[in-house]
Parts: sequence; structure tokens; C-alpha cells
Amino acid sequence: MSTVDAPTSHLRENPYDIAREQLQRVATTFDIDANLVNVLGECKKSVEVSVPVGMDDGSTRVFKGYRVTHNVARGPSKGGIRYHADVTRDEIKALAMLMTWKCALMGIPFGGAKGGVVVDPKQLSRSELERMTRRYTSEIINEIGPEKDIPAPDVGTDASVMAWIFDTYSMNKGHSVLGVVTGKPLAIGGSLGREEATARSALYSIRDAAAKQDRSVAGMRVAVQGFGQVGSYLALFLHQEGAIVTAVSDSTTALYNAKGIDVPAAFAHKREFRTLAGLRDAEAITNEELILLDVDVLAPCALEQVITGENADRVRASIVCEGANAPVTPAADAILEDKGVLILPDVLANAGGVVVSYFEWVQGLQEYFWKESEVNAKLNDIVSRAFEETWETARARDVSMRVAAYGVAVQRVAEATITRGIYP
Ligand code: NAD
Repeated sequence: MSTVDAPTSHLRENPYDIAREQLQRVATTFDIDANLVNVLGECKKSVEVSVPVGMDDGSTRVFKGYRVTHNVARGPSKGGIRYHADVTRDEIKALAMLMTWKCALMGIPFGGAKGGVVVDPKQLSRSELERMTRRYTSEIINEIGPEKDIPAPDVGTDASVMAWIFDTYSMNKGHSVLGVVTGKPLAIGGSLGREEATARSALYSIRDAAAKQDRSVAGMRVAVQGFGQVGSYLALFLHQEGAIVTAVSDSTTALYNAKGIDVPAAFAHKREFRTLAGLRDAEAITNEELILLDVDVLAPCALEQVITGENADRVRASIVCEGANAPVTPAADAILEDKGVLILPDVLANAGGVVVSYFEWVQGLQEYFWKESEVNAKLNDIVSRAFEETWETARARDVSMRVAAYGVAVQRVAEATITRGIYP
């Protein structure tokens, strides 16, 4: 018999407590009614399911899954599905709440949701992953739907997983339901530009922030943590814009080159070998060292709570761009703010994914698909408008970009809730 050490979770603090504290802080700053804050601080629905899967070796394993809807005042709920060993119900609730604010800040007609399965997808064969996804989809089939709750990719899930969700749902309904999930492959109703969209919004946010400071992306030194759907494209786009990406990392490898990582080579290497390990012309560092590098922009694009009260005072970047959701804890937020670091918050910087998911949903409902240039131009409009609203609110109220962004968003959800009234 072999024993395996339980992995140490990346969640040092309860993420749902953090999300509710942030709501409370924003509510105080923006004078939002306490009764409404009580409503907005809770998730509308939280479903826990068990997902039994027949494994390739003949054994059966049972995985735990969640689907949480935070709020639907502004439209059907929208949010990714995460496959990760550290998934907890409170993490999913926190991410669902964040989705509500993100959709509201972007002005798209969705509420917030999130789903997850407690699993390390790298440990499963492709057929095991497919069976698990189809069974999880069946267990939550009454929760999701194009007018109800629309999943999308997140950490550990991709377009193939979305294809299996789409197919399982459609088989049960007896016809193809394009709008049930976004982030689908192009062959079955995906949108051009969806895969790169989250990174694009992070790029646009950095570009707009640089412009406010009379700087330009070209020549900026950048460190990107996480080299998945968000981080790898962000590194590539920044490199194409003339930035010097001095460090990149994934869960096992962090790499540094003062003159700049060869990002296209790293991108190709990661796709071929599924790891950054073995990439040439770069020095190995640790993920913690990456966070503390002397760069202009630090872009955490992996998981939550990587910049904390313990390391924030040693962060040397002048801009932190949250490609990931909630990578900066409230304690770190306060320290970075005191140091004058400009934080481009998650609900702004990584909102491109949900914006182009919205475009994909619209295209699917209309069964009419747009050109990539059209998708990117519309995305740019929405993100830049949200950046401007956030920037102006931050200036007018003398608050951080995070408080401003959440404030704009929470006010919109509060207004929708008041306008609709509390049923019955
Ligand atoms: P992904 O699974 O494609 O990639 C995650 C990357 O992070 C991988 O390269 C992985 O190796 C790396 N990683 C994991 N643990 C790490 C660690 N401890 N240190 C360094 N790297 C580590 O996931 P993704 O879709 O790129 O999502 C990343 C983040 O962006 C998450 O916070 C997610 O919620 C957020 N996000 C994603 C989307 C989207 O459209 N995919 C949209 C908005 C926000």
C-alpha cells in the first residue's frame, strides 16, 4: 500500500468570508442599504452532488461536485467550472459572487455562478475525464440551461470539457442547445476570440492603465504567474506589444530571463509538453520569487491568494494585473495600496472571458456567427468603457480601483434587485 500526502491547499483564508467582507466594505463606501447587503451576501442556490465514475482499471471513484448560483437579478447566471483538487464549496460560492460583480461591471445581462469538482484532472485518463464530466453534467442538469445558468471553462477545464457538457445536455433534451455552455470548440458553436478573450481584457486594462500614467506597454518589464488559458496568451500578447516578459511560470516550474523570455517558444513548448520545464534560455526560480521580481507589471494568472499579508510588502511591481480571480488577499490589498501599487482588479482585468462568453451565447441563440475582428472590437469597447468608469469612480471617491469596480457593480445589482422587488 502506498500513502500519498494530502496536497496543501492554496486557500489559506476562507474565500467566501473574504468575498463577503469585500461586499461589506463596498456597501459602506457606496452607502448601500443594509437589507440589500444581506440579500447580496448570500448565494441564491448551492447544489452539492456526488459523481461516481467507472475508472479504466475497473474500480469506481466518487468525486464531489458543486454548482452555485449567486444572483440572477440582472439575467441568467454565468460562471466557469473548475476541476482542481483544492475545490471547496466556499471557494465556489466566493467565485460565484465575483461573477455577479464582473458581469454587472461589464454591463452584460448575466448574474453570477460557478461550479467545480474536487479532482486533479491530470490524474485522469481522457476517457475517465469524459465520463466524469458527463456524469457531473447529468447531476446538475436541472440547474443549468441557456435561460437559467450557463457554464464556461475555468482552471482545469477547457473547450473539450465544454463540448462534453454541451453534448450531454443536448442528448438529454433531444436537440442541440448551443446556449447551454460557452467556451465550446469552434466546430460546435464556439466563438472566434473566446480562447484569448480573458488575456485580451488583461492586456487592454494594462494598456489603459499605462496610458493614464503616460506610459506605454512597449518596454515594460512583466512577470506572469500561471501559463494556462489566461497567462500564456497574456504573456504572448504583451510580448507582441513590445513588453519584456522576464518571468513565466506554471504549477511546477518558474523561469526567469532578465533580457526577456522567448514567449512564442514558451507558448509552443507548453502546448507540446504540457509543462514549461525544459524550456531553454531561462533560469529556474521559484513561484514565490516570481511574485517578488523587480518588474513594472506583475500578472498573477493562476490561483487565489498568492499575494498575501506575508509577501505584499516585498512586491516591487508598480502595477498588479489580476488575470486570476482573487489572487490578492485583503491584507495584501491594504499593503499594496499604501505602497502606491496600482491594482487592476479581477472583475475588470479578467472579464474578457465572460464578455466573449456572452457574445458566444448571443451568437448561439441567433445561430449567426461573427468575424474575429468584430468580436475583438466589441470586447475592446466594453472593457475600455468599464476601465474608464472604474477609473473615474476611483478618482471621484478617492478609493482604490478594486473598491471602485466592485462599487459600480454592486450598485447595478442593487438597483436591479430594488427595481424587481423581493418576491413575493
Ligand atoms: P488553466 O487551468 O488554463 O491554467 C492555470 C495555470 O496556472 C496553469 O498553467 C497551471 O500550471 C498554473 N498554476 C497552478 N497552480 C499554480 C501555482 N501554485 N503557481 C503557479 N502556477 C500555477 O486556468 P485558466 O483558465 O488560465 O485560469 C487561471 C485563472 O484565471 C483562474 O483564477 C481563473 O479563475 C481565472 N479566469 C479564467 C478565465 C477563463 O476564461 N479561463 C476567465 C476569468 C478568470
